[in-house]
Amino acid sequence: VRHLLVCLGDQLDPDSALLRQGDASQDQLWMAEVDEESTHVWSHKARIVLFLSAMRHFRDEREADGWRVQYRCLDQHTASGLDAALTEDIARLTPERVRVLQPGDYRVLQRLRSACDQAGVPLDVVDDEHFFDTPAGFNAWAEGRKQLRLEYYYRALRKRFAVLMDGDQPLGGQWNFDKDNRRDFGSSGPGRIPAPRAFPPDPTTRDVIALVEHRFADHPGTLDDFDWPVTPGDAGQALEDFVNHRLAAFGPYQDALWANQPWLYHSRLSAAMNLKLLSPRAAVAAAERAYAEGLAPLQSVEGFIRQILGWREYVRGIYWRSMPDYLQGNALDAQAPLPTFFWTGDTDMRCLADAIGQTLRYGYAHHIQRLMVTGLYMLLYGVHPDAVHRWYLAVYVDAVEWVEAPNTIGMSQFADDGTMASKPYCATGKYIRRMSNHCADCRFDPERRTGEAACPFTTLYWDFLQRNRERLQAVGRMSMQLRNLDRLDATELTAIRRQAQAHRDAVSG
Ligand code: FAD
Ligand code: SF4
Repeated sequence: VRHLLVCLGDQLDPDSALLRQGDASQDQLWMAEVDEESTHVWSHKARIVLFLSAMRHFRDEREADGWRVQYRCLDQHTASGLDAALTEDIARLTPERVRVLQPGDYRVLQRLRSACDQAGVPLDVVDDEHFFDTPAGFNAWAEGRKQLRLEYYYRALRKRFAVLMDGDQPLGGQWNFDKDNRRDFGSSGPGRIPAPRAFPPDPTTRDVIALVEHRFADHPGTLDDFDWPVTPGDAGQALEDFVNHRLAAFGPYQDALWANQPWLYHSRLSAAMNLKLLSPRAAVAAAERAYAEGLAPLQSVEGFIRQILGWREYVRGIYWRSMPDYLQGNALDAQAPLPTFFWTGDTDMRCLADAIGQTLRYGYAHHIQRLMVTGLYMLLYGVHPDAVHRWYLAVYVDAVEWVEAPNTIGMSQFADDGTMASKPYCATGKYIRRMSNHCADCRFDPERRTGEAACPFTTLYWDFLQRNRERLQAVGRMSMQLRNLDRLDATELTAIRRQAQAHRDAVSG
């Protein structure tokens, strides 16, 4: 074997630079299903099935293309980690070099490096052209800036890749349609939303489902509704379905919530993109085309493109710039363990029961559920950021560390001391009431911070401000919220602290 080309479970792009630079007559692909990737966090069954099924489809397709694939099935070997499996195969196959696309996960890169070092075989890390930018490109942009902000990076990428541009000006004269994109569904609700295209399990996926039900029986989540895209063909159809049926309303309703509506107008494309079944360039181009053809308004198209060309690239840049220290961040010194209902959804807080319930059922929640329901609650409660990180990395089908960690540790928990967000995303239950119908059916009242009917979000919000008063004083954009805290008298503050503690005692068991 000349080169052993390592294809990780989130690198399933048939046109990747690694494959293009390879030669099927001299090189072999190497893929391994290993326990550790499903157990280093307690992964949702749907996440495990998605990765294993997509890997097996990729193997079959590359073999059909003429590649020789060294593939280790989970139930056919005993090496628990990627490094151990690779070490064994380097000894057996004696390649001249090992090559891999830049992994998405710092830990995996370290493991591959150490396996190759120990075996005395050079490891080449190839730039992952799936992304618009590279970590080095992000660093060059970030260099010398006092504060990093998505908006400026996003504008630079819009210009550089000529996306939604009219010469050197943004199409429509505006970079940003955020203020038009915060609508709720009012009291009448969202009406009929076109159901997303589903991909029921084929025989390969069914085999994997049986394996996962057996081998990871005690893991969270269920598989009855598994219908995620597992091949590039599926992913292309999912994109087309989204663009034709839901993109037009994506923008205005991207922040809205509604009970028992898991998808709303969201694309469900994150997992396909993160596994590289779908190129972000294809997603961006399809959205631009929809605007040009009059299928969707600019506010929706820009809103969608901002998530992919903006946020998705930005968080990757932050991740590689800040690792490995990023995972240790705990700027607000949060120490509480994760309340156990996060693994069951068993709570009478309706917003949380809905978000966690659909998470366990599908391995999916949309952004505002993650940021302003589960994430907000954990922030206000003071859950240790590492426990928060491990939960998000475990329960979503799209969870890969380079995108999950900045969103969780940074954006939602402010544990990185403001690298990702200029202030903590903290709010009372009134925010959730404004954006959803959850509170109407809930036994709590978002207006109340103390007393039996007090909404735990509202109580914990005021407790959070008290607990973090000193630290938050340094965050300019928090001054209005802190001024409101100053208006509460000592008796009220004590009552809030007591109520917050009683809530913690009630849910921590
Ligand atoms: P849509 O709402 O349709 O958005 C379109 C696409 O934009 C997504 O598919 C995704 O690729 C991209 N995108 C949107 N928001 C972000 C963002 N903030 N950062 C990066 N890309 C974004 N996304 C993941 O892919 N994996 C994760 O593990 C993950 N963990 C998160 C944890 C927390 C606490 C939060 C607040 C957000 C997290 N996100 C994560 C970002 C975002 O919530 C998901 O990408 C999105 O909900 C996926 O659903 P969708 O494909 O329907 O997205
Ligand atoms: Fe959630 Fe509070 Fe509203 Fe209940 S009242 S649904 S706990 S925000």
